[in-house]
Amino acid sequence: MIYVTQPEMPPLEEFEPYLKKIWESRWLTNNGQFHEDLEAALAEYLGVPCLSLFSNGTLALLTALQALRITGEVITTPFSFVATTHALWWNNVKPVFVDIEPETFQLDPMRIESAITPATTAILPVHVYGNPCNVDAIQRVADTFGLRVIYDAAHAFGVKRGGRSLACEGDLSVLSFHATKVFTTIEGGAIVAPDVKTKDRIDFLKNFGFADEVTVVAPGINAKMNEVQAAYGLLQLKHIDSHISRRREVALRYRARLAGIPGIRHLDDIAGTTPNHAYFPIMIDADVYGMSRDTVYERLKTHGIYSRRYFHPLISHFPVYRGLPSAHPENLPVAEAVSRRILCLPIYPSLELDVVDKICLLLERRP
Ligand SMILES: *Cc1c(COP(=O)(O)O)cnc(C)c1O
Repeated sequence: MIYVTQPEMPPLEEFEPYLKKIWESRWLTNNGQFHEDLEAALAEYLGVPCLSLFSNGTLALLTALQALRITGEVITTPFSFVATTHALWWNNVKPVFVDIEPETFQLDPMRIESAITPATTAILPVHVYGNPCNVDAIQRVADTFGLRVIYDAAHAFGVKRGGRSLACEGDLSVLSFHATKVFTTIEGGAIVAPDVKTKDRIDFLKNFGFADEVTVVAPGINAKMNEVQAAYGLLQLKHIDSHISRRREVALRYRARLAGIPGIRHLDDIAGTTPNHAYFPIMIDADVYGMSRDTVYERLKTHGIYSRRYFHPLISHFPVYRGLPSAHPENLPVAEAVSRRILCLPIYPSLELDVVDKICLLLERRP
């Protein structure tokens, strides 16, 4: 069975020394040594000023919105993992869906302005598949209307734009280190902050609001990363460059093999961007290809290949959100069309190239 992704697990012997240290120190959570080491190592690896670790990416998203005291309405994309919008709902903020760009699948900056109301306080875009949003255009709109920008950068670990970390864009960026992501701490996440003052507030918030033993400065939550997670992250970080370059080999093989197939489109590297190859999405035009996306998905499955329809259904189709005026399909024609055609093919560091060839052969040979 080939799944869309599979975590890379180094030999168990490599993890044992970390566990031994945790057992010896008897320090399991609350800013342990591995937690401190991983925060420093990640800030350096990513090239970001400050970073605060979290037990998962969803709690990091919730906390990022709390940290900036976001209220009212927030403009976001329906073409994402459902946690993006859930984070708004849990903050009692009304999501306002805006359509995506047909070429990049990212939130369309041209459509943001008309969705702004007096209640709008922020924009929550997603760097879908790890490809950068049009961050300059989004920032211009935000500056013009005095809005905050929080990026869901769950897919964008290590991605750089003109040599600068994509996670430095906006007011805050949120990363996920879930087992299915490019860099993992099993479950985990982080908020990238511009300065120590902001990081301090985030650190209070993720630990019940405690500023010291007796002072609670805000209604915080428990979103702390434990020592086993942090140790696993430090071990993953040793291998991250080779993991990303193996992903690149897989992506290049797919691109070479799929290039000639009518009705199948893939995304190429974006000029000036250092990608992480987190996903390998293809668009299937049923009229040209002769088969619908769903038929391709089922056919691959009968051959033991489990692709994923990321993102289908759109977030705006789920019962909690579909009643919102902005969730109406007529408001989101591009996202609706992309969601019907998109398919993410398996990609992970240990995926063999002959398996990639087998998948491409299946896509080449239409019955
Ligand atoms: C994975 C993911 C999240 C949630 O992260 P968790 O660490 O699984 O809680 C949020 N947004 C997007 C776009 C994701 O892909």
